Amino acid sequence: MWPPSVIPPSGYWFDEKGLRVESTSLPNLIAALKQYRKDSGSPEGDPSYEVHAQLCARHPSLCTTGRKLAALVPKSIRRFLIHRCGLVSKEEVQRRAAICLTCPQRQEWRSTCTSCNDSLNKALRKTFPGRVSELEGHACVIGGDEVSIAMLFDSGDKLTVAPKACWRHA
Ligand code: SF4
Repeated sequence: MWPPSVIPPSGYWFDEKGLRVESTSLPNLIAALKQYRKDSGSPEGDPSYEVHAQLCARHPSLCTTGRKLAALVPKSIRRFLIHRCGLVSKEEVQRRAAICLTCPQRQEWRSTCTSCNDSLNKALRKTFPGRVSELEGHACVIGGDEVSIAMLFDSGDKLTVAPKACWRHA
């Protein structure tokens, strides 16, 4: 996800199949791409997601993706404790997991310290039973949290710039 307060060093532009769509800000660029596609009769696509993805690909070190992700677990725990959300059904967890498993916004956050990873995971398994094992230690770059924990809860959180297939897409 591109941080809205950061101006990309190469400016706000989007490469639409070789055509450069430019604008003065992140929301304006998303709106301009949307309008261009409408006017040219092109498929609608997902302008917000695509603009964020291109900016991040162009300047990975400035994108949220490039930041340290290890703080995501406490963030997830805090968020769900504060909101005291209910749990979703096992079927819903499986549905969400299937989507996250194929999502490009999922990223492994585990550190190189194997024993640290193991003890953290052991503690998390006790605290949050029902986590999908393939997603343990994986973060959602857009949501900024640990997906295997986030998907357990009925938090009502929506992610406006997530891919359309995302179970949290706004
Ligand atoms: S964007 Fe949605 S589908 Fe993708 S990893 Fe995050 S929560 Fe999962």
